Amino acid sequence: MKIYLAKYRGFCSGVKRSIRLAEKTLERGSGQTYILNDIVHNKTVVETLRNKGLKTVTDAKEVESGTLMISAHGIPNEIIYSSQKRGLEVVDTTCPLVHKIHEAARKLADDGYDIILFGDPGHDEVKGIVAVAPRQIHVLASVDDVRLLPEFEKSVAFISQSTRNVEKFHQAAEALMDRFGPMRIVNTICRPTRTRQESAQELAGKCELVIVIGSQSSANTRRLAEIAESGGAKARIIENASGLESESLEYIETVGITAGASTPDNLVDELVAKITDYATECDISLQISEL
Ligand code: SF4
Repeated sequence: MKIYLAKYRGFCSGVKRSIRLAEKTLERGSGQTYILNDIVHNKTVVETLRNKGLKTVTDAKEVESGTLMISAHGIPNEIIYSSQKRGLEVVDTTCPLVHKIHEAARKLADDGYDIILFGDPGHDEVKGIVAVAPRQIHVLASVDDVRLLPEFEKSVAFISQSTRNVEKFHQAAEALMDRFGPMRIVNTICRPTRTRQESAQELAGKCELVIVIGSQSSANTRRLAEIAESGGAKARIIENASGLESESLEYIETVGITAGASTPDNLVDELVAKITDYATECDISLQISEL
C-alpha cells in the first residue's frame, strides 16, 4: 500500500495566528476571555482552548465584562465597535487575508459597483464582508443560483469568500458574464486555500481513496473532499483517526491524506500511525511519501 501525504495540508497561517493570539490572551489570565462563535471550525482545537478557559458565546451581547475575541473569519466591524463601547477588551484575530477581502469590497463599493460575493450564506466571514457595504453586496451560494440574482443597474463586480472552490469560482464567473456581460472579477480566494486545493487535486490523480481530516462544519474541509471526488477518487472526511474503520482500507492500494486549514498536524500523524498498524497486522508492505 502507498500513502501519499498532501504537500499543502492542515493549519493555514490565519488559523495559526488566531490560535497563537488566543493562547497568549488566555495566558495573561486577566479576567474571563470569550470567543464569538468557534475560533475555527475544528472540534479538537475548540475543545483544547475550552479546556484552557476560553468560553464560546454566540452573541457578543452575552458578554458583560472581560475580553471578547474575534475569530479568524472576522465579523461585521459594527460588533467590534459596539463591544468596545460597552467597555470590553476586544482581541481581533481576523485573518489579514480576510481583511484584504474587506478592503477589496470597500474599494469596489466606493467605485460604485454592485458586488456579487461567492460565499456560504450565514458564514461569519461572509457576514463580515457583506457588512462592508450591505446595500451593494449580494451573496451567491452556487453556480446554479446565478439565475436567481436580481437585475443590476450599476456595473457588476465578482469576489469570493476566502475558502471557496477555485474551479467553481471560475465557473460562476462565466455564468455571471453570460447573464450580465463583462464585469470586474477579483479572485479573493486566499493562497493557502488554493495550494491545499491543488494538492487535493494531485492526490485524486494518484489515489483510489483520499482521506480529508477535518470537521464537517469546516467549509474548506468539505471543499477538499469535493475536489478529490471530482478528480475521480473516493473521498472521506473524518474528524480524527478513530473515524476510519479498517474495512474502508480493504483492497485499497493508494491512499491520499490531506487536512483542512483548521486541522492540527498531530491528527495527520495519528492517522498515519493507524494505517501503519493496519498494514503491519495485515502483513501489507507500506510506503509513505509526500506529494
Ligand atoms: Fe486566512 Fe485563508 Fe486561513 Fe481563512 S483560509 S484563515 S483567509 S489563510
